[in-house]
Amino acid sequence: MTSPALTPSHVFHRSSRATPPRAVRGEGAYIFDASGKSYLDGSGGAAVSCLGHSDAKVIDAIKAQLDRIAFAHSGFFSSDPAEALADRLIELAPEGIDRAYFVSGGSEAVETALKMARQYFVEIGQPQRRRFIARRQSYHGNTLGALATGGNAWRQAKFAPLLIETSHIAPCYAYRGQMEGESLEAYGGRVADELETELQRVGPETVIAFVAEPVVGATLGAVPAVPGYFKRIREICDRHGILLILDEVMCGMGRTGTLFACEQDGIAPDIITIAKGLGAGYQPIGATLCSKTIHDAFEHGSGFFQHGHTYNAHPTACAAAGAVLSRLTEDGLVARAAEMGEKLDAALHEAFGQHPHIGDIRGRGMFRGLEIVADRATKTPFDPSEGKAAKVKKAAFEAGLICYPMGGTIDGQHGDHVLLAPPFILEEAQIGELVEKLSTAFKAAL
Ligand code: PMP
Repeated sequence: MTSPALTPSHVFHRSSRATPPRAVRGEGAYIFDASGKSYLDGSGGAAVSCLGHSDAKVIDAIKAQLDRIAFAHSGFFSSDPAEALADRLIELAPEGIDRAYFVSGGSEAVETALKMARQYFVEIGQPQRRRFIARRQSYHGNTLGALATGGNAWRQAKFAPLLIETSHIAPCYAYRGQMEGESLEAYGGRVADELETELQRVGPETVIAFVAEPVVGATLGAVPAVPGYFKRIREICDRHGILLILDEVMCGMGRTGTLFACEQDGIAPDIITIAKGLGAGYQPIGATLCSKTIHDAFEHGSGFFQHGHTYNAHPTACAAAGAVLSRLTEDGLVARAAEMGEKLDAALHEAFGQHPHIGDIRGRGMFRGLEIVADRATKTPFDPSEGKAAKVKKAAFEAGLICYPMGGTIDGQHGDHVLLAPPFILEEAQIGELVEKLSTAFKAAL
């Protein structure tokens, strides 16, 4: 049979040279291409498919909503699925979070958060606040505001000048940042205090918000903050009256073993962004969740958030997300992510704990990262020209495993890494299969 992947394509693929195989079917933790080859979805695409690829409850919810109505513009109508989803999310969200603004994905959720925070200060009479502070080696999306917020210089280079004034401080990244003899707590406090230093440098009265991922995903590979870090960050934000925006687009929705990743850091932000796992790949949806204080400022100010998208609160997407949330909470899949995540972590340590080119294995729940190094003892990264991450990705894909490697050496400050974010429904035998295929890829690529 001729593979349809070889026929000419008019789709503008992410790389114009690529002719990717066509995905034709999904079942549980597997994706099948047109030739019948199966791929174990070890990264849920990009931490999206938390329920696997054939979840009956979500599919039924979408079909039922399509039978009622697919779309009604949110400028005219609300809908039952949007109201129910918001109610449930707010019930489950960290303290103080009170409203949900539904969008179509992660970048839109972050862009909405940035604009909401900026307009909030305009509404309360502090329009001089124009700057965001975020962290180096972070990714917050690809629209221009979100891109400016992320601290990923090579992604930004071709699009300068960027639209938003942002400064970047160090991420909380113990593997590379902790000094010899320093306790984790002391390290967390020291790196959080970089926010205070930066605020003093730029003038705290000019700053809108600090933006961070509780567990850094794409750019570092599942790096959680050390205990106490976010408590100190929260305290600094409060002292200066700046907002804390947590980007849980990748690490939220149960991925780390709690519904919101920040629950494990013991803090509540002013704004949270979620996406990916919210639709679990069944529908494109994201949300910007904000506190009552922020929402009330709009109600008592101009009364109108100057922002909106055609597909805000899309009924079918909200119906899908409502079913996803029910699977995650009522059907116990967040708890399963915590439990299976421990098993995955143990299996990774057993297989790669002594691997000469794996420097660090980290993460929480079903969100795990392995950092690739040239030398374990010195933590020296491979030279970027060796393209180790790309080689691992290719070898894993050939072996029938989808994982999410990133070249980290581009700024010389960390190694390449592999991100694992499998569906929470993964079985124990599939953890074995994942580790075995990853091992095959490492043998071929490292
Ligand atoms: N924020 C984070 C933390 C992300 O990981 C991503 C996507 N990788 C985004 C924002 C952007 O999401 P999207 O690709 O859905 O626009």
